[in-house]
Amino acid sequence: MVDNPAVAQLCLEKALATIEAAVDELGKLDSFAGDGDHGLGMARGFRAAVAAKGDGTVGDVLAKAGTAFADAAGGASGALVGMWITTVGGSLKSQTIDAAQLHRALEAGLNAMTRLGKAKVGDKTMIDALDPFVRAFGEAASSGVSIIAAWKAALPAAEKGMQSTADMISKKGRSSRLGERSRGKLDPGAVSITYVLRAVGAALEEGCVA
Ligand code: ADP
Ligand code: MG
Repeated sequence: MVDNPAVAQLCLEKALATIEAAVDELGKLDSFAGDGDHGLGMARGFRAAVAAKGDGTVGDVLAKAGTAFADAAGGASGALVGMWITTVGGSLKSQTIDAAQLHRALEAGLNAMTRLGKAKVGDKTMIDALDPFVRAFGEAASSGVSIIAAWKAALPAAEKGMQSTADMISKKGRSSRLGERSRGKLDPGAVSITYVLRAVGAALEEGCVA
């Protein structure tokens, strides 16, 4: 159960720290098939998201952070990740949130990202990590476990999805222009979103979310 907006802020701060530590790695991955700006864009986005410091509920903090992220990050991922964070936040309406409610919010966020970007699993995007994570989180949540237990149970699905992008050909975004030559490297967005999910897991633990 999470009812403390400070936990949402901690999630954003941990995500920022993780992305800042990975800026070069993400930039290199993006330079194989894209324009090399993915790490810098994600870091700019999370810096703005942390600085937004919305007040009110967990949902309010995330909704404001997502808007700030989208405004600051730029690139395809800026709009997509910003939309994801805002939609997750906007879907968390109550003061106390359990794993089933968080699952519905994560699903709404994923659906909003899919509506905006029109990518499917297998297109070599961040959806390849996020979709299996949300599914696995939902399965864990439906067995009645806590948020932190469901988050931990779902992380391996994100990691596996991220790894699966290495063999894929990019079908969406800038890298799709490379066709077959986009195969053989991990998708930068799948890597960054997996790092963010990991960081949020650590923040939930540190924030003692049950
Ligand atoms: P840009 O391609 O505009 O430079 P970034 O480099 O910040 O943007 O982000 C690239 C990442 O965005 C890709 O690795 C991919 O994961 C993700 N991406 C691109 N297009 C889409 C899309 N239509 N749907 C989902 N994710 C996408
Ligand atoms: Mg790029």
